[in-house]
Amino acid sequence: MKIFNTLTRTKEEFVPLEPGKVKMYVCGPTVYNLIHIGNARPMIVFDTVRRYFEYKGYQVDYVSNFTDVDDKIIKKAIEEGVDADTISKRYIAECKKDMEGMNVRPATRHPLATEEICGMLDMIQTLIEKGHAYAAEDGTVYFRVKSFKDYGKLSHKNLEDLQSGFREIKVTGEEGKEDPNDFVLWKPKKEGEPYWESPWCQGRPGWHIECSVMAKKYLGDQIDIHAGGEDLIFPHHENEIAQSESANDKPFATYWMHNAFLNIDNRKMSKSLGNFFTVREISEKYDLQVLRFFMLSAHYRSPLNFSADLMEASKNGLDRILTAAERLRELKGKAKEEKLSSQEEENAAVLAALTEKYEAAMDDDFNTADAISALFEMVKLANSTASEESSLAYVNLLLEKIDMLCQVMGILTERKKEALDQEVEDLIAKRQAARKERNFALADEIRGKLLEMGIVLEDTREGVKWKRV
Ligand code: AMP
Ligand code: ZN
Repeated sequence: MKIFNTLTRTKEEFVPLEPGKVKMYVCGPTVYNLIHIGNARPMIVFDTVRRYFEYKGYQVDYVSNFTDVDDKIIKKAIEEGVDADTISKRYIAECKKDMEGMNVRPATRHPLATEEICGMLDMIQTLIEKGHAYAAEDGTVYFRVKSFKDYGKLSHKNLEDLQSGFREIKVTGEEGKEDPNDFVLWKPKKEGEPYWESPWCQGRPGWHIECSVMAKKYLGDQIDIHAGGEDLIFPHHENEIAQSESANDKPFATYWMHNAFLNIDNRKMSKSLGNFFTVREISEKYDLQVLRFFMLSAHYRSPLNFSADLMEASKNGLDRILTAAERLRELKGKAKEEKLSSQEEENAAVLAALTEKYEAAMDDDFNTADAISALFEMVKLANSTASEESSLAYVNLLLEKIDMLCQVMGILTERKKEALDQEVEDLIAKRQAARKERNFALADEIRGKLLEMGIVLEDTREGVKWKRV
């Protein structure tokens, strides 16, 4: 398997630290609002990476945090007149609901920053003792960037360039910094903010330290993969490397993976620009499997532009797969022969070749776009070769393969009943509209489509009724 490593900017063969195991850390969201579909991209992408490793037989230890102490959470708490904890707990619960809707499996662990303060104090203390950090007079503790010779290796920046960028900028409140590049590990509390006791001052952690501490505690000093959106490369991940490698004296993560942005009108979707849709909003219009399918239709390192057209295309594409799987399930009940015929054996060889195509795409830095093309070819094969004359073995072979390869993408091939009911209702509404416009050809076409789905319509005085046959 090959993975594009941001650290080396090349695709590298995946070699785990421990054979058969993958230790993976993915930076999670800051919980002060419902997540938007930009935040959903890394969740879906890295959940798929995890599933594919498992498909290949690896045991994956997957850790993803919730940042539950942060300026934005505190601001929101003040606005609502509640404490920060109320805000973060509420949005963690909401985020978990969205994850479930998108079939993003819970991580092996979801640590919370506020529950890991002790570990952060320990790591900061170690960094001070080793000369990598210092406390300023006001109790702020800074990481001494110059003390870490590899600073910049992930983002491919050099310290001199960073230095010149800072020359003119003086930030009030940071007078105790030795160097403008130094970053905060611990900061003094402000009035009304949550705080913890520490040897330096009553205060709270900077953002970067939590991930170094949680990765160490739950996965160890060295991990295989560290991942997140590409906006995290600098400064967040660069700073995590500086902290972890200085504290542990070991290389931190072997592979750094970063997803490109989900854009809208070619600009990054973000809370601050206000150009976002929440996952919740999308769920009102679509089954969230459609969102998942849409996200995986592009390679994770390519920017992806969100649009209604692309969502509709994803809906139709997903529909084709689900309808094919449904038909195969029906055919299972009708098969007369048990064993493969000689023609079916030839078709089975085509199916095996398509499986190899799927795996080759996924082995090549998780190219889900090409893997989905292979899936579509399988659907085509199923639609053109499976019939009531097929053997049970052949129908099972097709169904199990399509089902499993969809599951690797986090797609369930059995439609949720509510989603299906909604789809039927929508089609009936469309047929009614067509009839009203006296477009009987379209109305008949829709009736035919419904019939294919096993839905029979009955036009009654009270309106259209439908039942499954
Ligand atoms: P945040 O809550 O802003 O820290 O973001 C949580 C995760 O979502 C991080 O991995 C970000 O890189 C990622 N993220 C935020 N916005 C986008 C976007 N528009 N496209 C892709 N990933 C994003
Ligand atoms: Zn992080």
